[in-house]
Amino acid sequence: MRFFLVLFVFVMISHVNVRSAKAQSRSEIACFNIVGTGLVSAFASVILGKIDNAKDFLKVLGVGAAGGLTFLTAKTLIAEGQVEAGVALSFLSSSVVENVTIGEHPLSFLRYGVGPLELRISTGLSRRPRSHIALEADLAEVPLFLYFLHKADRIQFRDGILTGIVDDSTIDVFGFKAGGVSPGRTVLLARPSFGDQQLWRHEVIHVSQDIQFGTWLVRARLFKQSSKTNSRPKKFTFGYRFGWVLLSRIMVDEAWNHADRWVEVEARTLAD
Ligand SMILES: [Zn+2]
Repeated sequence: MRFFLVLFVFVMISHVNVRSAKAQSRSEIACFNIVGTGLVSAFASVILGKIDNAKDFLKVLGVGAAGGLTFLTAKTLIAEGQVEAGVALSFLSSSVVENVTIGEHPLSFLRYGVGPLELRISTGLSRRPRSHIALEADLAEVPLFLYFLHKADRIQFRDGILTGIVDDSTIDVFGFKAGGVSPGRTVLLARPSFGDQQLWRHEVIHVSQDIQFGTWLVRARLFKQSSKTNSRPKKFTFGYRFGWVLLSRIMVDEAWNHADRWVEVEARTLAD
């Protein structure tokens, strides 16, 4: 059953690319964000075994759909130049949607990350938090981060995003020449393109999309801990996780022309 649901989400993500080649209007992009985020959340919640009845399903579907709208708002803020606010809203949307997907209070945990690492802070509203603060590494983001480190000649923070500068006129992305590229939640810019605000906003929209696709994941702890159900939460834990929806999206995209990918169509429509 779970295998088929994962397969269904995979096919759904593929379908987004099939349709995106024709998607040009902002209303169509809004529709995809709302319906897509709602459906992936509801199915992810079923896969995690958090749905007992139709009411649970509709709740996750509804919060996911509302999250789709706030993700779109976040990307629109970035497109309008309010980059830091847009990134913060992306993480807030991701936190709320994930919390509801895993059967928790919408504000039980807040997530904020840089590259493949993310802090997950318990607000006290969770029923049974394992720790107050958890530092997590996302396995789906690790190869993207290694690529970032390999390409970047200099690294800096820009509007809260880990940004690498490549001392070259363009970046060679597997044979494709680009002024900028966003491996996962990082951005690489060729040196002459550093001052190009439009390109910067376009690339940060890709980061926001990765935060959105990275909402649904499977997490595990690195070190075995007490399994006592009533044990008090620890102050700090370190764990790893696997963003399976993000990885599905990256795999599906490999089969598509760069310009026809949903993430490209959306970033172009919002920022260019
Ligand atoms: Zn792009």
